[in-house]
Amino acid sequence: MIDIQKNVPLAPFTSLEIGGPARFLATVATLAELREALLFARDQRLPFRVLGGGTNLLVSDDGFDGVIVRLKFEQVRLAEDRVQAEAGVDLTWLVRRTAQWGLCGMESLAGIPGLLGGAVRGNAGAYGSCIGEVAEKVFALHAESLELKIMDREECSFAYRNSLFKREPRLIVVSALLHLSPGDAGEAEGRAEATIAKRIARKLQCQKSVGSFFMNPVVSDQELIRRFEEDQKVHCRDGRIPAGWLIDQAGLRGAKVGAAMVSSLHANYLINSDKASAREMVRLAGLVRSGVLDAMGVLLQEEVSYLGAFPAAPRDGDGSPAAEPGAPPEGRRPSPP
Ligand SMILES: Cc1cc2nc3c(=O)[nH]c(=O)nc-3n(C[C@H](O)[C@H](O)[C@H](O)COP(=O)(O)OP(=O)(O)OC[C@H]3O[C@@H](n4cnc5c(N)ncnc54)[C@H](O)[C@@H]3O)c2cc1C
Repeated sequence: MIDIQKNVPLAPFTSLEIGGPARFLATVATLAELREALLFARDQRLPFRVLGGGTNLLVSDDGFDGVIVRLKFEQVRLAEDRVQAEAGVDLTWLVRRTAQWGLCGMESLAGIPGLLGGAVRGNAGAYGSCIGEVAEKVFALHAESLELKIMDREECSFAYRNSLFKREPRLIVVSALLHLSPGDAGEAEGRAEATIAKRIARKLQCQKSVGSFFMNPVVSDQELIRRFEEDQKVHCRDGRIPAGWLIDQAGLRGAKVGAAMVSSLHANYLINSDKASAREMVRLAGLVRSGVLDAMGVLLQEEVSYLGAFPAAPRDGDGSPAAEPGAPPEGRRPSPP
C-alpha cells in the first residue's frame, strides 16, 4: 500500500513557499507504487501532477484538487562512464557524486536546485550547459498505458528549457542514463564547487523564488539585439536576450504587487518577499509581461510551471498551447490580464 495523505499544504514543498493544499499527496518510491498512485487518481477521477523539488512551481492559493505524486526514487548506479540515476535524486548531489567518481560533464549544473526528473523535464541548464547534453536515455512511465518507455536523446527533443516531457505531461520521468566523460576527479570536483560558489556569491539562492520566472526570448528586432550587446558587452547567443535585461530596461526592477516583488538582485527573479499569495505573483507576472511588451515589444513566456486553478489562467509549458522546441516565444501567448 502506498502512502497517501489527504489535504496536504503544498507551500512547504516549494521554493516560493506559496500555495494551498493538495486534495491528495501520494509519496512513491518504486515504479509499482507510482503505477498504484496513478490508478488511485484514475479511480477517484482526479487529475494528477508530479512534484519534484518544487523549485520551479507556482501553486495556486486554492491548492490542487487532484493527486500530487511525489517521487522518492533515489537510486544511482555507476557503470564505467555512464550513470543510471533515478528521478528523485537531488541534482546538485548527483553532480558532486559524479565529479567524485571522476566523471565530467555536469559541473556547470551544480547548484541548480531541484531533482533530476524536474531537470530533465525542463532541460535545466546554466553557464552554457544543460542536462539534455548528457542524458543518453530517459526512462519514463506513460500515465495512461502505465508502460515504461525508454527514449534516446533525439526522441526527448531537448531544446532551451524544453523537452518532450514538458509538452507531454502524461510522460513521467523515472530515471535517466547519463553519459559522462572520464576525467580527473579532483579537477571535476573543483569545477563543481566553483560553480556553486559563483551561484552563492550572487546571493540569489536565499530569496524565495523559482529562479528565472520567464524564459529568455528569441528576439528578431536587430536594433534591440544591438542595444543589448552594446549595453552588456556580450554577444547575443542564438538570438536570445536575457529576460532579466528586458525587464530591467522596462524599468520594472523592484516592482511590487503586495508581497510579490521583482528582485532587486536579478530582474528575472520574481520573489515572495513576505507571505505573498499566488494571486499576487500572477498579477506581478502579468504586470512584468505587459510592461516588457509595451516598452520593448517582446512577449515573455513563463519558465515556471503553474499548478492548480488560477483566475487569470496563466499557461506554461505544462498546458496548451504546447511550445515547439526552440520556437520563439514571441507572439505565442494571449495578452496578460
Ligand atoms: C534559486 C533558484 C535558482 C535556479 N537556477 C536555475 C538555473 O540556473 N537553471 C535552470 O534551468 N533552472 C534553475 N532554477 C529552476 C529549477 O531549479 C529547475 O527548473 C529545476 O530543474 C526544477 O526541478 P524540480 O525537481 O524542483 O521540479 P518541480 O518544481 O518540482 O517541478 C517543475 C515541473 O516539472 C514537473 N516534474 C517534476 N518532476 C517530474 C518528473 N519526474 N517527470 C515529469 N514531470 C516532472 C512538475 O510537475 C512541474 O510541472 C532555479 C530555481 C531556483 C529556486
